[in-house]
Amino acid sequence: ILSVRALTKSYGELEVLKGIDLDITPGEVIAIIGPSGSGKSTFIRCLNMMEVPTSGSFKFRGSHVLPEFKDKAGTLGAGTLRRKVGMCFQHFNLFPHLTVLDNVTKGPRVVLKESQVEAEAHARALLAKVGLADKENYYPSKLSGGQKQRVAIARSLAMRPDVMLFDEVTSALDPELVSEVLQVVRDLAEGGMTMVLVTHEMAFAADVADRVIFIDNGVIAEQGPPQEVMHSPQSERLQQFLQRFH
Ligand code: ATP
Ligand code: MG
Repeated sequence: ILSVRALTKSYGELEVLKGIDLDITPGEVIAIIGPSGSGKSTFIRCLNMMEVPTSGSFKFRGSHVLPEFKDKAGTLGAGTLRRKVGMCFQHFNLFPHLTVLDNVTKGPRVVLKESQVEAEAHARALLAKVGLADKENYYPSKLSGGQKQRVAIARSLAMRPDVMLFDEVTSALDPELVSEVLQVVRDLAEGGMTMVLVTHEMAFAADVADRVIFIDNGVIAEQGPPQEVMHSPQSERLQQFLQRFH
C-alpha cells in the first residue's frame, strides 16, 4: 500500500535518513524501534509527507506521491495522501475550545464535507470503540492524558484513513495510562488496520507487530518478524539497544 525506495532526508548538512527501502502491505503492522536521534520520527513523518523527502521514490497504492498539495495526472499530492494516511503523536493537539465530539467531527465535516448527522454518527461509533462513549460533551481540559490520546486516535480515524502512523503515542503518558492507549492500538491492529508505529514498548511491539524494523543512524539496520529481531538480533548495535529494555 505504501512503498518507498532509496528515501533520504537531510536537514541542511545533516543527512538524517540515508536511503530507506520499504514496502508496506495492506493490513500489515510494522513496529519501528531504534536509538534516539536515529531518524524514526523523521521517517514516519515522511510517510504522510509532513516532511518532504530529499530524494527517493514514494508510492501510495502504486501512484507516485508528490509534495505538491494538489493531485496531478497519475500522481498523488500531499493533501490527498494526508487524508489516507492518518497520524498520531506523543503530544495530541486537541482543539481546547471544542468538545470531544466536535474535535472528532471537525475534520470530516470540513475536509470530507460530511453532514453533521453522518459525522456525529461516525464519531460516536469511534468514541465507543476507544472507550469514551460517555465523554462526548467533555472539553479536553477535563480529560486525563490517556483519554485525550484516545480522542486524538478517534479524531484521526474519523478521516477514514487507509493507514495509521503512531509516533510514541504513549511516551508522554503516566505509566498507569499507557495500557488503555495500547489497547486501542491493539484493537485497531486486530481489526486489520495497516499501521506503522514507533514505540519504546518492546513487549507491545513484539506482541502486536507482524514485522519489527530497527532503524539505526538513518538506515534500516535489521528487520524481520518480532521473534527474530527481538530474540536473535544479528548486530551488536541491536543487541546493545535491546539490552536497555531488560
Ligand atoms: P527519538 O527516539 O528521540 O524520538 P528519532 O529517532 O525519532 O529520535 P528524529 O526525531 O527523526 O529521531 O531525528 C533524527 C535527527 O534529525 C536528529 O539528529 C534530530 O536532531 C534531527 N532533526 C529532526 N528534525 C529536525 C528538523 N526539523 N530540523 C533539523 N534537524 C532535525
Ligand atoms: Mg522520535
